[in-house]
Amino acid sequence: MIPYGKHIIDDDDIAEVVKVLKSDWLTTGPAVTDFEKAVADYTGCGEAVAVSSGTAALHAAMYSLEIKPGDEVIVPPITFAASANCVVYMGATPVFADVEAETLLIDPAAVEQQITPATKAVVAVDYAGQTCDYDSLKNICKKNGIVLVGDCCHAIGAKDEHGRKAGAIADISVFSFHPVKHITTGEGGMVLTDNPELAQKARIFRNHGINLDASARSEKCTWVYDMQELGYNYRITDLQCALGISQLKKLDKFLQIRRDLATCYDRILAKFPEVTPLRSKEGIEHAYHLYAVRIPASRRKAVFEFMRGEKIGVNVHYIPVHYHPYYQEHFKTKKGLCPVAESAYEQLLTLPLHPAMDRKDVKFITDKLDEALKNC
Ligand SMILES: *Cc1c(COP(=O)(O)O)cnc(C)c1O
Repeated sequence: MIPYGKHIIDDDDIAEVVKVLKSDWLTTGPAVTDFEKAVADYTGCGEAVAVSSGTAALHAAMYSLEIKPGDEVIVPPITFAASANCVVYMGATPVFADVEAETLLIDPAAVEQQITPATKAVVAVDYAGQTCDYDSLKNICKKNGIVLVGDCCHAIGAKDEHGRKAGAIADISVFSFHPVKHITTGEGGMVLTDNPELAQKARIFRNHGINLDASARSEKCTWVYDMQELGYNYRITDLQCALGISQLKKLDKFLQIRRDLATCYDRILAKFPEVTPLRSKEGIEHAYHLYAVRIPASRRKAVFEFMRGEKIGVNVHYIPVHYHPYYQEHFKTKKGLCPVAESAYEQLLTLPLHPAMDRKDVKFITDKLDEALKNC
């Protein structure tokens, strides 16, 4: 099976993890702060806080922003459920704003329509790996006194039209290091911000709400700490961060391969009248976490099954979040809420794209897609 996404772990990644296993700190040690610094430097962001997953990073971001019951946070429907779940964790209400048809990025005009006096934040998801329309979103947020959160889990290494890197554009942003993402720590995530206060809140939140972690207590020669807030154990281990540091060194190479394969798909699929790749915006640098296309809705299921039968791990990203039974039950969401997202969902198909693939794989996958469209 060619999966839709997959990690690459080399011997030097493994050697770095083994070094940590032989060291004194397995968690809250030097590899964690080194990984944070490396990601902060890579993105050009002032502060980075490493946590146990991208979802934990979203939760920590919402906590740092003091989102509370009664607040509303605007989210797009074409994303992984965690982008909206983090709002629910705080007892607040996610409000869905539709996406733009050609890119499936959150539509600033739709965001503006959803703003109420209760709106506290907007979550911008860099879907598939290209940056949202941050200029418009920032303007809207500024005008309304609300905060912009970047869910950049698809977009580490992407740049916007001004050369700003994903993760360093919104007020607070998150990455995930799950194995299907660009670089991995097994499980892992990070909160990024230029605001030291928000970063400090996230640091306390990941450690039970305690104000001094183990290494800080050891340095200060004290047993004293205060638990001032209710936090969680969202810490990440030094083993994971050593892997992350090693993986980050390869990120630009991985991105290069992803971009090359995407160009290869674009070129071949230009000759497929029934296949429409999502539009890549001009002037940005796409990180290509996903290569998503639209095909005729009436045949999507048959094409999906044909491709899976050929051991090609096609997928669908995503079922609109407001379709999920949990959201229907608790937030009374229903079909019709976001028509652009909903009609895109009927046609979406994700083709495999990851750095362990080569151009021959793209040729094989597109040949099979051609066959599928002729037979289904
Ligand atoms: C992967 C992902 C997450 C969650 O990250 P985890 O590390 O799996 O918790 C959140 N949002 C988006 C858009 C993602 O792709």
